[in-house]
Amino acid sequence: MSDVPELESRYHMQMFRRMPVTLVRGEGTRVWDDTGKEYLDFVAGIAVDTLGHAHPGLADVISKQARTLIHVSNIFYSEPQVELAKLLVENSALDQVFFVNSGAEANEGAIKLARKWGINNRNGAYEIIATNNGFHGRTLATVAATGTARYREPFGPQLPGFTFVDYGDLEALKAATNERTCAVLIEPVQGEGGVNVPPDGYLKAIRQWCDEQGILLILDEVQTGCGRTGTLWAYEQAGVEPDIMTLAKGLGGGVPVGAVLAKNHAAVFEPGDHGSTFGGNPLATAAALYVMQQVIDGGVTKNSQERGEQLARHFASFEDRFESVAGHRGQGLLRALVFHEDVAGEIVGKALQAGLILNAVRPNAVRFMPPLTVTQEEIDRAASILEAVIADVTG
Ligand code: PLP
Repeated sequence: MSDVPELESRYHMQMFRRMPVTLVRGEGTRVWDDTGKEYLDFVAGIAVDTLGHAHPGLADVISKQARTLIHVSNIFYSEPQVELAKLLVENSALDQVFFVNSGAEANEGAIKLARKWGINNRNGAYEIIATNNGFHGRTLATVAATGTARYREPFGPQLPGFTFVDYGDLEALKAATNERTCAVLIEPVQGEGGVNVPPDGYLKAIRQWCDEQGILLILDEVQTGCGRTGTLWAYEQAGVEPDIMTLAKGLGGGVPVGAVLAKNHAAVFEPGDHGSTFGGNPLATAAALYVMQQVIDGGVTKNSQERGEQLARHFASFEDRFESVAGHRGQGLLRALVFHEDVAGEIVGKALQAGLILNAVRPNAVRFMPPLTVTQEEIDRAASILEAVIADVTG
């Protein structure tokens, strides 16, 4: 083992519960640690490495752009930025976009946009209804919007203006709506909350309620967007269109970039309202443009759907064969295998030893989010490692 963990404990603030592995190299779905051990990566940077590791086409684009123009300020026009904006708008239900650097920042921007919209259009309405177990980021506004108290409470007075209701409970959402409400902020599938798929018709009913009340629907597609759930945007499967949508994670395939998209009526920012030094710089947007071309036209989204179904078939057979398996949930390549007992940590630890990287999203649920380019053979191999691990841990 290298001295990296020791150096980390001395020099890096202790804010992550890290797996006991230092990853140094990757190729496609595979990664290698500093001892040369190979793993199948079914975490992919938490749903980020859309095209897998060290994708040659993406590496070429990044390197070419780095040799051409890495960064210019947003006080100038930029070719990759407008090309990416055009691609996202032409392939979504939204009309305009601006770029940021992360999911939290995208949601910050969406919250500001919705509040300005409320001030302009709904007598100063500023409250946002979000959901328990939702996750929108770690900045002060996005933790205030995150329905998990432990992310918010250590940090003193919270930004006011957020109300929480249970995910899936339409009546609670209706009851929480008042004249101060400007928007609903929700994930189409809760990712960090445990890969929670809402009841059929839930998002459609929220859309209808927002229309009736004259409030905005903000979909946080930071985790679900960009092909992850087997369609380009998760909202397509729910049969709704948001007024505002946020993206990050898979958008840049590992290069930090996020986006806020809005319908024209919700795109109320004017020059000076918001900004970002790095947001949408040429390097990030050239990378995202390449990634999204592959996701949209390169068969990546179809692979996400087909490999997701393949994974779900393995899960169904585990459910039949292991009493410890309670079920599975998810869409595309965002899935969770659920156990009756809190064994997720042990399953993930043993899988790591066996060369498969997974994530314990809940004490009783293991999350799977491999690159969207994962192959049929890799899904089968991961399932066979997992099967042995489940047998070992739960008998
Ligand atoms: N929104 C959702 C749905 C997420 O899953 C995450 C991260 O997990 C975020 C926002 C925050 O993104 P970031 O970590 O890039 O700030």
